[in-house]
Amino acid sequence: MSDALRQELERLRERLAAAEQALQVIREGEADAILAEGRGGCRVFTLVGADHPYRVFLEQMQEGAAALDRRGTILYANQRLAAMLGTPLEKVIGRDLEQWMPSDARSTFREWLRRALRGGARVELDLAAAGGRRVPVCLSGRSPGAGMTPALCVVVTDLSEPRQREEQLRRQTELLAQARAELERQAAELARSNAELDQFASVLAHDLREPLRAVLNYARLLVERYAGSLDDRAQRYLGRMLAGAERLDRMIEGLLEFSRVTIRGRPPAPAEAETVFAQACADLRELIERSGATVTHEPLPTVLADETQLLRVFENLLSNAIKFRGPEPPRVHVWAEPRDRQWVFAVQDNGIGIEPEERERIFAPFQRLHSGAQYPGEGLGLALARRIVERHGGRIWLESQPGRGSTFYFTLPAAGKATCERACGARAG
Ligand code: ADP
Repeated sequence: MSDALRQELERLRERLAAAEQALQVIREGEADAILAEGRGGCRVFTLVGADHPYRVFLEQMQEGAAALDRRGTILYANQRLAAMLGTPLEKVIGRDLEQWMPSDARSTFREWLRRALRGGARVELDLAAAGGRRVPVCLSGRSPGAGMTPALCVVVTDLSEPRQREEQLRRQTELLAQARAELERQAAELARSNAELDQFASVLAHDLREPLRAVLNYARLLVERYAGSLDDRAQRYLGRMLAGAERLDRMIEGLLEFSRVTIRGRPPAPAEAETVFAQACADLRELIERSGATVTHEPLPTVLADETQLLRVFENLLSNAIKFRGPEPPRVHVWAEPRDRQWVFAVQDNGIGIEPEERERIFAPFQRLHSGAQYPGEGLGLALARRIVERHGGRIWLESQPGRGSTFYFTLPAAGKATCERACGARAG
């Protein structure tokens, strides 16, 4: 072979080796462009191949992205990561990512790098961005496979905003807890001062009764023993005085009972409303018979209540339903329905009804819509019922059609789970 031929062969071999090397680089994704010598000189061929859309995507995404080698050196980074690090992109590429780790996060970072190179790993830590700013991030690394380049693909998520939201939430929760504690303190304070007031009212009512008893006793003695020696007018005056004193006595008695709802009330316990209701009907038998009233009811549930106080609620609502009657004989119907973990009781009558504007007022002590001559009473029955129901955590209200009747509702906590079968099962009437 001539020297010229040998030289030509050698040149062709070198070009082949160079071409194979270039192909290898392209396959492994390490080159964005290749330089090729041609007749017209050197030409640059940009590789707009299958990975081009991915590169565009990586540049535009909101997360930081990087490709690292096995030692953690940054081979590629997108603009977003450079912004997170507070460093120009050209100063990011070629540096170790660890450079942006604060000293307290370095061992965590190295441990993450080891695990990520074995397959994949995530970690949350702070980056020390340029200017001393700390940026909380999540590093999520995945290795494309042993011996591949790059060794690790990393997505860096900025956690500043979620952390701020967490912090805000934590502060709000703290404030809420403080407000709740303050509310509980105020409720306890209110309960204490209410109990004090009740105690005071109870003592006062008790003490007032002593002199009143004396007035009553002597007035009765006068009526019994000296009625004959008094003229008509004096007798009328005496009668009115006695009636007034008796009314005052009943009012004081009512006040005493009212103030004792909280200070003498027993803790709520399972109570058979059916039995308590039967007791109320027995207590009111005379009134029921005298008025010719019909009282019907559906099966009533077991509730959590102070039995004696529940009896007073039934007695007051029943006696009102009969007392405030219309021209028809009174018809009263009682039932209960479950609602959430409570029972709603209803006492319905066909009486005179109540105007809408009076429906709140009548629950206040001594508020009556009629004179004592028309309908007897002291105006404390509903106030007492409301106090009892509220002491049990319930509510009392009414619906009414003036001239046609009223329905009083009140709620009490269920003993156990309130179920529908009990009350809805036998809607007899
Ligand atoms: P009292 O029955 O002693 O008057 P309450 O506190 O029980 O006192 O009732 C207050 C007022 O509410 C009554 O005077 C009456 O005007 C009105 N009221 C209560 N229940 C009924 C009812 N079922 N129907 C019509 N009015 C009623």
